[in-house]
Amino acid sequence: MRPPLLSPLFAPVQSLTGIGPRLARLMEKVLPGQHHAGEPRVLDLLWHTPTGVIDRRATPSVAEATPGTIVTLNVRVLKHARPPRGNKRAPYKVRCEDDSSPIDLVFFRAQPNYVEQQLPVGEIRTISGRIERYGDKLQMAHPDYIIAPEKRDELPLMEPVYPLTAGLTGKVLVKATRQALERVPEFTEWQETNWLKSKHWPSLQTALEHLHKPTESDHISAAGPARQRLAFDELLAMQLALGLVRANYKTQKGQSIVGTGTITEKIQNVLPFKLTPSQQNAGADIARDLASDARMLRLLQGDVGSGKTVVALMAMVSAVEVGCQAALMAPTEVLARQHLETIQPLADAAGLTVDVLTGRDKASVRKDILARTASGEIDILIGTHAIFQTDVDFKDLAIAVIDEQHRFGVHQRLALQAKGKAGGVNVLVMTATPIPRTLQMTHYGDLDVSRLTEKPAGRKPIETRTIATERLEEVIDGLRRAVSSGAQIYWVCPLIETSDTSELAAAEERHAHLTQIFGDQVGLIHGGMSSAQKSATMASFSDGVMKILVATTVIEVGVNVPNASIMVIEHAERFGLAQLHQLRGRVGRGDRQSFCMLLYQAPLGETAAKRLEMLRNTEDGFLIAEKDLELRGGGEVLGARQSGMPEFRVADVPGWTDLLKAARDDAKMILEKDPDLISKRGEGLRTLLYLFECDEAIRLFRAG
Ligand code: ADP
Ligand code: MG
Repeated sequence: MRPPLLSPLFAPVQSLTGIGPRLARLMEKVLPGQHHAGEPRVLDLLWHTPTGVIDRRATPSVAEATPGTIVTLNVRVLKHARPPRGNKRAPYKVRCEDDSSPIDLVFFRAQPNYVEQQLPVGEIRTISGRIERYGDKLQMAHPDYIIAPEKRDELPLMEPVYPLTAGLTGKVLVKATRQALERVPEFTEWQETNWLKSKHWPSLQTALEHLHKPTESDHISAAGPARQRLAFDELLAMQLALGLVRANYKTQKGQSIVGTGTITEKIQNVLPFKLTPSQQNAGADIARDLASDARMLRLLQGDVGSGKTVVALMAMVSAVEVGCQAALMAPTEVLARQHLETIQPLADAAGLTVDVLTGRDKASVRKDILARTASGEIDILIGTHAIFQTDVDFKDLAIAVIDEQHRFGVHQRLALQAKGKAGGVNVLVMTATPIPRTLQMTHYGDLDVSRLTEKPAGRKPIETRTIATERLEEVIDGLRRAVSSGAQIYWVCPLIETSDTSELAAAEERHAHLTQIFGDQVGLIHGGMSSAQKSATMASFSDGVMKILVATTVIEVGVNVPNASIMVIEHAERFGLAQLHQLRGRVGRGDRQSFCMLLYQAPLGETAAKRLEMLRNTEDGFLIAEKDLELRGGGEVLGARQSGMPEFRVADVPGWTDLLKAARDDAKMILEKDPDLISKRGEGLRTLLYLFECDEAIRLFRAG
């Protein structure tokens, strides 16, 4: 059970004064939401990091104030001058003064009642906003704050600036966040005193206070002690969680499997290629894991097209050889079906029974698959996460392969592994995201890793070009020639931040445009389509009937159409480096010379320019991943989300990789000394785990 101490933080935001359903919905849009679906909690406000501050500390006299700057003034209200009747454009002016000079407060389209009430004649008010010179007068249009002397504390002298959305003002967020701060309980410190001292870090309470009620710029600076402390807390929670799951995992026995090789041989005989050395090595790693009686927990890392599927198949087949079953889970339905297509012919040749289960199967189909899975008739079950739902019973599941593609969060994945259903099951996680070593730690803790380092034979290099959008017509001319020579083309439409609908609109527009030119050879695929529609569209592209496939980023996750040789990416500057690399990997799979055209909107920012340049220069996914990490400053959340960066709440600060190493060492030491977290510090650390919602790790305590 979560300590009651934390309950006020986990309450919905509507429990705060002044927050109703409408504001709650708006907050849902802007608050870091990937950790919790639905209405945000009070806690989420605390993790909503300001991107800057409005400094209201300057309190000059009116005469000394520098026009154009933000100032806080103490003024006496002298008189109100309403705009003349019938003249809507004239402002409502309120003449004020201090001992040094008069100043006009100016309100356009004012509500007279409101202004009168805020600024009663003869009273003193503290006002804060931008002071300006207008003719020979000083004025302030629409002060940000008008505050009576007794409420002076309500003025944030350094006002945090939060990411906002239409309808949600900074003021509302500031007010809500201040209430959230009041709910932060007194924690027993879980970090070591000496460590805190050496870093000059404040307590968690103080750190949050500094972050949301800064009084010095250091307080919100990402390199400052408050943010660093919070980052370390989050990293330590993650590392502890990973360590706990891992420790628990290692103590569980897995089935020891030594394949007979009979079915493997049949498959190898029909494979149209030879396994690459790194495929063979990975296979040997897996065989060793399977033979031991500890559970396998291995990561198979390989760039797009490096041939992970066949390695996974061999692993699954060795389970089948000893009479067990295997499961392969893909992040999307399209991918699950694609896996089936790859595996089916090989399975047929070897006499294996394979089927696919997704969340959208008809009840009768589902029932049939479940029955055949439970009876053991199905040797390999492929599917989406539907295959790990509670009503799916395997007769004897020995290995689960998870094709991850950075779509599942670390928490989800760990939860899945800790799930009773997969108890005793050997797990192989495949990822196409080449993750830099530093990040590997945050994602996978100490997972065993096999890497596929070379591309399968026969792959041709892809020629990558960067082209300004103004030259779209030339690109289309080029495509005309390509299409008439039989080439097929992916056309990926711009990713638009936060709005799925406009992303779709852009794709639809481009589809309409290309249809005018190329007629009905152009298709469209996007996330809003039913799976049947998606499959039909993919099939038509795959069969070569459709020549140009316009897509939103749904194709990112790995379709295989070898004849597709051109990848056009619009607004490439909006994509992360790793994502561009993934998209590019969709071509270069067949005999044709492949091209990747990165269309960009000029002028390019410095980082975007470097990204595109990098992509032009190399196809090495690991190199690209390292570079991606290097190019990414703190706070570039969009890129982060797409490139397999961990989903941090507050840990995205400069120097986080060093903090991560420290957190990892600390977690290791803690778990060696106090594996059940029962010491005094251990108790504090449990609270930390709850605070960062490391539920899967906590569940292990409950079980044990
Ligand atoms: P990914 O690692 O992206 O999942 P896949 O497993 O989908 O890659 O393999 C991509 C393509 O490469 C498939 O068509 C597969 O049959 C082929 N392939 C796999 N291994 C080899 C190999 N050693 N030589 C040639 N082609 C291979
Ligand atoms: Mg794959």
